[in-house]
Formats: sequence, C-alpha cells, structure tokens
Amino acid sequence: MLPDFTGHIFGHGRRAKVVGLPEAAENARVSTESEIPGAHRNEPHHGDLSGRLNWLRAGVLGANDGIISTAGLVVGVAGATTDRTAVLAAGVAGLVAGALSMAGGEYVSVSTQRDTERAALRKEERELAEMPDAEERELAGIYEDKGLSPELAAQVARELTEKNALLAHADAELQIDPENLTSPWQAAWASFLSFAVGALIPLIAIALPPVGARVWTCIVAVVVGLVLTGAVSARLGDAPAGRAIARNVLVGTLAMVITYYVGVLFGVTVG
Ligand SMILES: [Zn+2]
Repeated sequence: MLPDFTGHIFGHGRRAKVVGLPEAAENARVSTESEIPGAHRNEPHHGDLSGRLNWLRAGVLGANDGIISTAGLVVGVAGATTDRTAVLAAGVAGLVAGALSMAGGEYVSVSTQRDTERAALRKEERELAEMPDAEERELAGIYEDKGLSPELAAQVARELTEKNALLAHADAELQIDPENLTSPWQAAWASFLSFAVGALIPLIAIALPPVGARVWTCIVAVVVGLVLTGAVSARLGDAPAGRAIARNVLVGTLAMVITYYVGVLFGVTVG
C-alpha cells in the first residue's frame, strides 16, 4: 500500500492561515457562508475556498492511490495466472481493503485532530474567562508581530474581542475555525470514495478485454488515469503540469511493471 498523505491533508483542510487583518474577523464570518463569488477564485487566503481546494487535492491523491495500488494488484495476479476470476477477486478485494484502510486511517487521524482542537478551544475559553485583559494584550501582541503599530494592534484586538473573543483567539493563535471543524465521518467517506473511484479504473480495464489484451489495456487505462490525476493536482497546486504528470505516470507504471514481473515469477514458480 502506498503512503497515506490524505490524513494530513484532510486533517488540515480548513486550516487556512489568515495573514491579513480585519480579514481575521471577516474570514470567520465568510467561512460559514456557502456561496463564494467566482471573482474570488484566485485568492488562496480565503479560508473556505482553500479548505475546499485541500479537500479536492486530497480526493485526487486518494484516487491516485486507488489507481496505482489496484493496478499493481490486478496486473500482478494477471502475470501469475490466466484465470479471470482470480484477477477480478484480487481487484475487488484490493479495492474494498484499500478504501476501508484509507477511510479508517482518515477517521482516526481526523478524530484525533478534532479532539486536540477542541481541547485547545476549551483552554482558550478558560483563559478568556479567567484573564480577559491578558488575553486581549496577547491578541494585540500577535498583530503587532505581524507588523501593525502598537496603537492599531490594540484597537484591532479590542474590536475583535468585543465582537467574538473566542473566534478572534481561535483564528489568530490556533488557526482554527471553531464553527467549522472537520467531521471525521465526512473525511472517512471522502477517502473511501476517492480511493474506490481510482481503483475502478484498473479493475474495469483488466476485467473487460480478452485475456491476451487485458494487461496492455490496463496499463493504457492507468496511464490515462495518472495523467489526469497528475494534471489536476498540478493545477490545484499551481505547479508545472508536465513534470508532475511525468513523475506520476513514471511512479505508477513502475509499480505495475514490478508487480507484473513479481506475479510472473510467482506464477512460474508455483504454477
Ligand atoms: Zn488567547
């Protein structure tokens, strides 16, 4: 199985760092709204939008994992045997096992992170109740460190505190949006689905064609899939697409070639 990047990414999905100023409050408000004007599409500091981009990115990575690991599996078994049922059974089992393992890992990782965030919020709440003045000075200090004059920082801290002290501290200190913590179940489902969708590409490509053509068909389908996921993730990350696609296709193809010959060797030894 490939390393699971999605835990990290899903887990940090809505953690957009807010650098700008009254934007801190603005951001807390906007991120609870569902409509994002299209004109803001290229503003990466926008909390909700960058959260969505992270989900999309994680989905693409999950699909990529599904494509590569299932392709390796079915091509490996196809290298060992001409039996159609064995290849299909391996592919379906690989899809279910992989998707469940991704979903389980995601559930655990996001749950743990949410517990940590809730604990941090409770601590912040306590501090705000026990020493509001020190907390307001702390908030002002953060904005001073970001480059505001002491007077302006103090004013910003005062206004944010009057509006919603916990939101202000959660955002500036913890980079958490308390009203929008990631749901572990949602993250688990997203992992499960993205892996399964990716896994279907090699599975269908090896199942449909006649035995003589199935490995090549699968390789072609997988390369097309990897070009797509490579292109989408490069686009999402504003990276040069050519190199990302080449890397992705190379790694995926290598995995298939290796497992195919492992399968062939195994088939020769055992069969
Ligand atoms: Zn604080």
